[in-house]
Amino acid sequence: MACPPPKGMLPFSTDWFITWLPNVHASLFYNVFRSLRKEQQCERMQAFVTAYRLYSEQVSIDQVEPVLGLTRAWTLVRFFESDLLQLSACTQCSGHFVAHAHSPDHDYVCGICMPPSRAGKTRKRREREAAQLAPVAIDLPAARCAS
Ligand SMILES: [Zn+2]
Repeated sequence: MACPPPKGMLPFSTDWFITWLPNVHASLFYNVFRSLRKEQQCERMQAFVTAYRLYSEQVSIDQVEPVLGLTRAWTLVRFFESDLLQLSACTQCSGHFVAHAHSPDHDYVCGICMPPSRAGKTRKRREREAAQLAPVAIDLPAARCAS
């Protein structure tokens, strides 16, 4: 595997999408995007706009902070297109989560099933937020291309 670029060289590193809370949000967004592209055959931009709108609606319904901004969401799509990220299936909950490309995932466990052991003050709130989004990340909302 090639060396990752040094930190700070890119506007966002792929690592950001792997960190715990962003990962839940990025996975929710990308699952919707992927389903629009693959199952609905949406055009790329249309799928992006629709997926981002559904993501924004979902976080506002759940009253959680929208961790994934528009620019980051686009960067996420570009990272997938550049083959820097992949979706790995969690062996515990069978949800699909954003992971580094080419990382072995036969025993992958997502951040919701296995929250980080070292956590700061915001842990309780963040756990609650992630728990609210978790079922959504696993059971996708029925997404349709905007016409
Ligand atoms: Zn899981």
